Amino acid sequence: MAYYGHGGPFLSWHGHPARVLHGRLAHAISAVSHGRDGCGTHGRDVRATGQRQNPYLRVSCLCMTADCEKFMGLALEQAVEAARVGDVPIGAVIVRDDSVIASAFNRRIRDRDPTAHAEMLAIRRAAAAVGDWRLTGCTMFVTLEPCCMCAGAIVLARLDKLVYGAADPKAGAVDSLYNICADKRLNHWPVVVSGVRAGECGGMLSEFFRAQRAAGKK
Ligand SMILES: [Zn+2]
Repeated sequence: MAYYGHGGPFLSWHGHPARVLHGRLAHAISAVSHGRDGCGTHGRDVRATGQRQNPYLRVSCLCMTADCEKFMGLALEQAVEAARVGDVPIGAVIVRDDSVIASAFNRRIRDRDPTAHAEMLAIRRAAAAVGDWRLTGCTMFVTLEPCCMCAGAIVLARLDKLVYGAADPKAGAVDSLYNICADKRLNHWPVVVSGVRAGECGGMLSEFFRAQRAAGKK
C-alpha cells in the first residue's frame, strides 16, 4: 500500500497519545509550553514567528473540546460514506458560525478523478454555499492530514482554520512532509490543530486497507 499505511499509534506532542491531550489538559500543556493562553490564535502566532520546534505542539488548543470532537465526528461519518462506496475513507466538513456549510467524502475512485479528495469537494461546496471563493471565517475538519493539493487549496481558499485527525506520514503536506499551511512565503497561514480523534480517523483507514488486502485488492 503506497499511502495511508500507518497503523498507529498516532502520537502527538512529545509522543503522548493524541487522545490523552484532548480538552483542557491539552490547553494546560499549551499554556505552559507557550507561556500564553487562548484558542485559535496560538497556532498562527507560533507559525508566524517561526518559533515552532516540535511539529506536534499545536495539537494543544482549547478548541479541542466538545465542538472539535463533534465536528470531527461529522467528518468521520463522511469517511464512512466513502468506504461504503469503495473509496478510501476520508471525510471533511466545513463549519462557519458553528454551522456545517459543506461536507464531502473522498470520491477519487468512484469519480475516477484524482482531484476528488474530500477536502477539495468540501471547499467547492462551501464556496458555492457562501457565494464567495474566500472562505474567511470557516474551519475545515478533515479526518486525515491533507495532501499537497488540498493543503494548497486550503491556503488559496483563505480558510481560517484546519483541524485534522490522523497524521499521514507518507503524503501529509501540513506537518509530515511539508508545512504548506505555515509557509511564510505564502500569503495565508491557517491555524492548524491536529490529532483530534486521531485514533478513530486512523483506525478507519487501517481497517479499510486491511480489508482491501484481505480481498486481494491494491
Ligand atoms: Zn488531498
